[in-house]
Amino acid sequence: MSRHRNVRGYNYDEDFEDDDMYGQSVEDDYCISPATAAQFIYSRQDSRQARQVETLEEAEYEEEEMPTSPTITHTLDPLEQAKVQEAPESRVEAEVIPKVARMTVSGKKQTMGFDVRSAEENVVVATSVRRGPSPEVPAMETPSKPAAVSEDATIPTPLRSAGKSKQQLNIRAELEKRQGGKPLLNLVVIGHVDAGKSTLMGHVLYLLGNVNKRTMHKYEQEAKKAGKASFAYAWVLDETGEERDRGVTMDVGMTKFETDSTVITLMDAPGHKDFIPNMITGAAQADVAMLVVDASRGEFEAGFEAGGQTREHGLLVRSLGVTQLAVAVNKMDQVNWQQERFQEIVSKLGHFLKQAGFKDSDVFYIPTSGLSGENLTTRSKVPDLTAWYTGPCLLEQMDAFKPPQRSVEKPFRLCVSDVFKVLTTRTAAKDLAKMLEERDQGSGFCVTGKIEAGFIQTGDKALVMPPNETCTVKGITLHDEALDWAAAGDHVSLTVTGMDIIKINVGCIFCDPKEPIRACTRFRARILLFNIEVPVTQGFPVLLHYQTVSEPATIRKIVSILHKSSGEILKKKPKCLSKGQNAVVEIQTQRPVALELYKNYKELGRFMLRYVGSTIAAGVVTEIKE
Ligand code: GDP
Repeated sequence: MSRHRNVRGYNYDEDFEDDDMYGQSVEDDYCISPATAAQFIYSRQDSRQARQVETLEEAEYEEEEMPTSPTITHTLDPLEQAKVQEAPESRVEAEVIPKVARMTVSGKKQTMGFDVRSAEENVVVATSVRRGPSPEVPAMETPSKPAAVSEDATIPTPLRSAGKSKQQLNIRAELEKRQGGKPLLNLVVIGHVDAGKSTLMGHVLYLLGNVNKRTMHKYEQEAKKAGKASFAYAWVLDETGEERDRGVTMDVGMTKFETDSTVITLMDAPGHKDFIPNMITGAAQADVAMLVVDASRGEFEAGFEAGGQTREHGLLVRSLGVTQLAVAVNKMDQVNWQQERFQEIVSKLGHFLKQAGFKDSDVFYIPTSGLSGENLTTRSKVPDLTAWYTGPCLLEQMDAFKPPQRSVEKPFRLCVSDVFKVLTTRTAAKDLAKMLEERDQGSGFCVTGKIEAGFIQTGDKALVMPPNETCTVKGITLHDEALDWAAAGDHVSLTVTGMDIIKINVGCIFCDPKEPIRACTRFRARILLFNIEVPVTQGFPVLLHYQTVSEPATIRKIVSILHKSSGEILKKKPKCLSKGQNAVVEIQTQRPVALELYKNYKELGRFMLRYVGSTIAAGVVTEIKE
């Protein structure tokens, strides 16, 4: 294969100069080449520099920007949870609402009933309705679950009076002012199960003072008692009992911390393969990623080989638009901080990441020990490391990420990642029954999600798609703080009224009623097939992963096979598609989903397809049918 192709002005030689395997082993091993991948990936950086790595799509459409959102929020301090105070129901709309334990249907719990922790406790709980399977269900199963309950902690949206009117608000200037001008960065942590993701980030949070000594001591004692002493730092993030029992992160935990120049929203994605759908949700909302790999002998290899999550996660985040990646080569203490081992991993990973579409200059490798805390927030002084490593520590690297541009000027879009209603536990069961019976519309409820575009102010009306109903935004909370407005990139909690909670699902899009998003069950898309074992034929069942949505769908039509590089039609109406192919297909979903064309909103126009537990394709929406 020619190493000198220039695809629509994009000279791959620039980025893949030393790539002797390009076009050969890449496609064989991973079924994806830079040329093919490039058509489905894009840069979230709006810089000149980023423009140089623009993809085919970007050459056609103007560069646009976008941000994040997670699935489930966690507060750091379980002690705080225990301290929650009573709040009468009437305070759902009160000025200040105390801490709550939130009940949510999520990957953590697959229970169908309501599991109110203790009716005796004077805590506030909230019900939550969630759409989508988690962990993954087979493509043919309906993933939607009715409201079940788990515990999370958060603060519901306190209400603030509407501030300046939309016309008056200079959103760019307001954003500048906010957080002392520090940009907000959404970081997803990815990697194979047991690579040390939770321990590493838990330790970072502890070192930054986000977890106090007393709480950390409590975690250590609890972990020791449970015979899992080494998991103490991981418990900072893995908050639920089930996660602790299984020793794996299941859902996407979200936490905020600050570096010198950036406010980082951290999403700790599950590494276990059963929870890849949750990981996709996290990655879809991330600006940058941190890949954690285990440097121990045999362990790095296990994570990197087929069946390991290192490659799948790397490919997924790149396909979902992440261009900047920090790689924590973790557990270096296990290999005596050997330079040779570090280099071996860098070289193996570097080769793969380049093939997956990452630019060498946007990938940074940092040797770390999440357990001992070396090279996390300060440069390590371990002689075995300083003998050969003089680069930045992990935090310095996070600080050095280029901040993303946000589409704040575009019409408002927020993708719902959770829905819940505040109730008091003492009367929770009663309240819940009453609420479900009466479909209570008056007192309002909360939704969380990431604002993908535009901004919202308290008092604004929002259209929810589906079900195509309007509500009023009474309150906005960002990182537990009540605000008058929030903008693209923010992961917020909204208190809304005027709508029936039962009609809202995870995956609904809140949008500007004057410039609404369309909901459809049929759309056309360009897809890139990964390493599939079974050929894709007409009627093929898939799970469509789109933002926070996970929806059963079928390949309704195979329209054409395209040339991987030029995009020219090679064959019309083929009978089937096989690995590595680039095609136009028509997709039919079971229920309506709100989508955008990729050329208009990149983040809302891209998706992944999965089939019985494997990611089989990445795609972009080209036409919305009906
Ligand atoms: P995750 O599944 O990627 O979140 O991994 P965890 O954070 O749960 O860690 C898995 C195991 O690896 C735990 O027993 C940790 O104590 C251990 N671990 C994590 N980081 C390190 C490290 O830097 N060095 C060593 N020796 N063990 C570590």
